[in-house]
Order: sequence, then structure tokens, then C-alpha cells
Amino acid sequence: MPAISPHKPYRVGRSRTGLGLFATKPIKKGAKIVRYFGPLLDSKKKKDDAIENKYLFELNNRWTIDGSVRKNIARYINHACKPNAESDVSPRKRKVVIRAIKNISPGEEINYDYGTDYFKAYLKPIGCKCDACEKKRKKQRAEARAEKARLKARAEKKALRKAEKQAAKAKEKLAAKQKPAGKPKAANGRHLNGHGGRSAAGKVIAAKSGIVVKPRARQGQESQASA
Ligand SMILES: [Zn+2]
Repeated sequence: MPAISPHKPYRVGRSRTGLGLFATKPIKKGAKIVRYFGPLLDSKKKKDDAIENKYLFELNNRWTIDGSVRKNIARYINHACKPNAESDVSPRKRKVVIRAIKNISPGEEINYDYGTDYFKAYLKPIGCKCDACEKKRKKQRAEARAEKARLKARAEKKALRKAEKQAAKAKEKLAAKQKPAGKPKAANGRHLNGHGGRSAAGKVIAAKSGIVVKPRARQGQESQASA
């Protein structure tokens, strides 16, 4: 890892994608963090134009900074879709400065947006691993899980209803089989408290006399209890 002066507000450290640049002191919004520097490549020179690496910073059609040199600390800064810094480009001065666009706290990783071209060429094929994209993926995964659970619950409910319907149908069928269709009188007899319906008239009388006698006895008991 490169040596960085302890006066600087950052250090190189482990990040999700490998190495990254992290704040060690509070960095105010708008403050210059570090310069992105390296040899200037002239696209008009065949030798320069042939150079290819991940740290090329295009200033304009003609000039590109080759930031792959070890001393260029800014090359450790990772891309983020919702960054806390930006690349401040002065094509005429052929100079790039990484500047904070938010207040950055110690421990926070410093990021800037590498731009659409870089994103399409390098990040989209492997999936951007910045915080914002990770969050988005996490949310999508959670939503997919919830949807799956919803569908499962619905399928289980449906299966349960189907099973209940089948059970009810089977019960109906069984009941229809057990009911002897040819002896309706026996069934009636059972309805009259199992007395077989042999002397229905006699039973009615007995029941009547019961109604006449019992309330009196009960009245007597009640008056005794209240006395
Ligand atoms: Zn991203």
C-alpha cells in the first residue's frame, strides 16, 4: 500500500471491491480531497493512444491522464452511483481534483461517479457493488422473497379449501349410503326419543300429565327457599 502523509484526511483500506480510500478526518463539503494525476497521454501519438488500463481519465478528445501510477492515490477511490465526492475536471489546465460534495465523516469510504462510459464498460457487466446498488439489490431480493411467501400462502389456502370441500363431499356420500332409503318409519320412531313410535298417543298423554304436575312441585320448593 502506498505511503500517505498522516496529515492527509484519508487512508487506503479494504473495501467491498478490494481496496478503497477512506476518510480519517472529517472532510467538509466542497473541500478538495486529492488530485487525480499521472502522465498526460496525447491521443495524437500512436504510442500514447495504444495505452490501455482501468485508470485512464479522459480530459477531452485529445488529452487523457494515465492514473495507473502508484503515486496517484486517487486511483484507489471506488465508483459509487450516489457518491460523496466528484471529479472536478479542468481540461484546459489538464487537471483533475477529487472534491467532496457532502460532508464526509471519518471512516466513510470516499467515492465519486466514474461516469456512464466506465459504468457501461466495466461495472454493468459484473454488477455495480456500490452501496446504493447493493441496497437496491437487497430490497429487490426482499421483495422477491415476500412475493414468493405470498404465493405460497395463497397456494396452501387454496389446497386447504379444496381438501375441505372434498372431505365434505365424501361425508355427504357416506351419509347418503348409511341412510336406509326403504324404512322412513323407523327413522321417525328414533326421532321420538327412541320410543319406537309404537304407542305415540300414550306417550303424549304421559307427557301432558308431567307438565301438569311438575310446575306445582317446583313452585312449592321455590316458596320454601324464599321463606
Ligand atoms: Zn452503483
